[in-house]
Amino acid sequence: MSIEKQIPILVQLAAADAVAKELEANIEQERGEIDGVRVEVAGLTEHLEIDHASIQEMEKTRGDLVQELRLMSGQIDRSRERLQRARNEREVNAAERELDELRKLQRDRDDEIKRLVSLVDLARTSIQEAEERKGELEARLEGSLEGSTKCIAELEAKLSANQKERQDAASKLPGLVLRRYESMHQRGKVPIAKTHDGTCLGCYVGLPPMVFHTMLSRREFEECPTCHRIIYYEPPPSPEEQQAADEEAADQASSEASS
Ligand SMILES: [Zn+2]
Repeated sequence: MSIEKQIPILVQLAAADAVAKELEANIEQERGEIDGVRVEVAGLTEHLEIDHASIQEMEKTRGDLVQELRLMSGQIDRSRERLQRARNEREVNAAERELDELRKLQRDRDDEIKRLVSLVDLARTSIQEAEERKGELEARLEGSLEGSTKCIAELEAKLSANQKERQDAASKLPGLVLRRYESMHQRGKVPIAKTHDGTCLGCYVGLPPMVFHTMLSRREFEECPTCHRIIYYEPPPSPEEQQAADEEAADQASSEASS
C-alpha cells in the first residue's frame, strides 16, 4: 500500500485517539466530582458518630457528678449539725475544716458540671452543622447522580463508537506502520507529524536536508530524529487553502470564546 493511501488513515487514527483522550478525561472528571462528594459524606458520617458517642459519654459523667453532688449536700448538712452541736473549740475547728473541704469539693464538682454542659452544647452545635451539610450533600448527590450517570453513559457510548472507528482505521494499515504508531501512542505521544518545508510540525525542529529530500517523493515514512514521530511530507497549502484554514481557525476560536 502506498504511503499516499496510508497518510489519511494515519491522520484518521490520530484524530480518533485525540477524541478518545478528551472523552476519557471528561469521564474521569465526571466520576471524580461524584466521588469527591461521596468522600465528604462518609467523613461527615464518621464525624457525627464520634460526636454522638462523646455526648453520651459526657452526659453519663455529668449524671455521675450530679449524683455525687447530692450525696455531698447530705454530708454538708450533717457537717453543719456537727458544727452546731460542737462543745469546745477543738470540735468547732474540726467541723469547720470538714465543712470547708466539703464546700470546696462541691464547688469543684459544680465547675466540672458547668464545663461539661458547655462542651455538650458545643458538640450539639457541631452535630447540627454536620447534619445540615450532610443533608445538603446527599440531596445534591441524589440530584446529580442521575444526571451524572446519564452523562457518563453518553460519554462511554461515544468512546465505544470512537474505538470502533479507531479499530477500522488501524486494521487498514500495514503491520509495521501500525506497530510504530502504537508504540508511540502507548507512551502517550502523538505518533504522527507532517512537514511542508523541512521543519517537523510535531516538534518544530528542522529535519536533516537529506531526509527531507527523500521524503518529497512520498515513497516511505521517515522518523523525525528529534521527536521520533512518523513523519511525512505534505505539499504546502496553496494561498487559498491557507486562507480557508486560517478562517476556520478564527471561526473556531471565536465560537469557543463565545461558548
Ligand atoms: Zn519532530
